[in-house]
Amino acid sequence: MHCCHFDLDSTLVPTKTTLSRCPACAHELVLLEAGAPSWCPACQWNLDVYDPALAPWRGTRMIGRWGFRRGLEIDRATYEQVLAAPEARPDGTSSGEVWLSVVSVLLALLGVAAVGYLAWLVVASDLPQGVRLALAIPAVLVLLLVKPSFGRVPRYGVITEREAPQLHRLVREVADAAGTPVPDVICADLSLNAGVARLGWRQRSVLVIGIPLWVMLPRPARVSLLAHELGHLANGDPLRVRRTLLARTFGARAVVATGGRNPWRRAVHAADSLAEQGSGPVVLLGMIVHGIVALANVAGATAQLLVDSVAMPDSRRAEYRADLVARRVAGSAAFLRSSETVLLAGRIWQDLWHLAPRIDGEQLEAAAAEARESLAARLPLARQLSRRTTDLWSSHPGEDQRMRLIEALPAVDGALCVDTRRWADIDTELAPRRRAAHNILLGTRDRF
Ligand SMILES: [Zn+2]
Ligand SMILES: [Zn+2]
Repeated sequence: MHCCHFDLDSTLVPTKTTLSRCPACAHELVLLEAGAPSWCPACQWNLDVYDPALAPWRGTRMIGRWGFRRGLEIDRATYEQVLAAPEARPDGTSSGEVWLSVVSVLLALLGVAAVGYLAWLVVASDLPQGVRLALAIPAVLVLLLVKPSFGRVPRYGVITEREAPQLHRLVREVADAAGTPVPDVICADLSLNAGVARLGWRQRSVLVIGIPLWVMLPRPARVSLLAHELGHLANGDPLRVRRTLLARTFGARAVVATGGRNPWRRAVHAADSLAEQGSGPVVLLGMIVHGIVALANVAGATAQLLVDSVAMPDSRRAEYRADLVARRVAGSAAFLRSSETVLLAGRIWQDLWHLAPRIDGEQLEAAAAEARESLAARLPLARQLSRRTTDLWSSHPGEDQRMRLIEALPAVDGALCVDTRRWADIDTELAPRRRAAHNILLGTRDRF
C-alpha cells in the first residue's frame, strides 16, 4: 500500500498548431488535435474546460465533465484556504474523514459478522454439507472485500544506513526541518515517483525514492522531493489513509474481484460462448450468473466513485500541505524546479531510453540534466495542460495548481543547505542504483 505522490502523465507535451486568434487577447491559440478544445497560452482563455482526451475516463462523458468541474471548484477553494493561512496546522478530522471512518468501521463489523457466521456454519449448524458450503459462499465473498491489508515493507531495494550514510543523514536533516520523526526504512525503486507509507504489521514508516526521478531532479529539487514526502508524515497523512482504508478500497476490490473494467462487454462475450456450446437451462443459468457479476462490478465501481468524491478533497489538501513543507525546507525555487522536472519526467525518460546504449549508469545524471534543459521550452504548455488532467476523483491537484500556490506565496530560501561535497558522496552511495536504472532503460529497449 504505497502512496504515490505525483500523477505522472508527462508524455502530454503539445505540439503547437496555429488555428486562430484568442477572442480575449488576440494571441495565437493552441490546438492539441482536431476536435479538441483549443486554448490561449497567453491569457489562458478556454484552458479550464473538459477535454475527454486528457481528463481521466470515468465511464461516461457526462460524469467526466461534472467531475472535472467539481475538481476545479475544489482546487480553487483549497487554494484560497491554504493561501489565507499557510502557517495553519492541518485542521483536525474533516467531515469526509469522519464519514469514511464510520464506513470503515461498519465494513470491519461486517467482516467480523461474516467470520462469526462461518464459524457457526462449521461448528454449530447441523445442515447437510452441500447446503453449508453454498451458505458459506456469500460470507467468503464479504471477507474477500473487507479483509484487512497491512502492506509489506519491500524486501528488495532497502537502502541501509551502512550502504548510504550520507543519504540517511540528509533524510534525517530533512525530517528535522520538516518536524517529523525519521522514517524507519528508506527504499529505492525504479519508478518515476516517490512516496511514503506505513507498512507491515508494525506499521513502520517507509520512504520510497524512485531512482529514475531522483536522477532527473536538480540537486536542490531532491531536497524538495524528500521534504514533500516527509511532510506527509509530519501531517499524519499515511495514518489517516490507514484508518479509512477499508472504505477507500472495498469498491475497487469489488471491481477487481468481478473482472475489472468493461463488465458488460465481458458478460455479453461469456453469454455468446455459452450459447455456442451449451443447451437451454445451462445457458440461461450462465447468463444470470454473468449478469449478477456485471451488476456487482458496476455497484463496486459506483461505490468507489462515491467514496473517492468524499476522500479526494482531503487528499488534495494533504498534497498542498506537503508542498508547503517542501517550500519551507527546500525553498520556493527548489520546489518549482522539482515540479517542472515532474512535468517533463515522461519525456526525459524517453530521451534517456534513446541515449541508453551510448552511455553508462554514471553518465545518466548528466544526460538527464541535458534532456531536461533541451525540453525546457515545452514547459509552459505542459504546465497549462496539466490543468486538464485532474478531476474530482484525482488524488493529486494538477502540477500547475500546486506551482501556483507556491508562486502566490512570498519566495523563501530553504532552511536546509547541502554542499557539493555531500551531494557527490550521496551520488557515490547511489551508484549501484543508477546502474540498475540504466539496466532498466536497456532492458525496455531490448524488449521492443
Ligand atoms: Zn504527496
Ligand atoms: Zn488570450
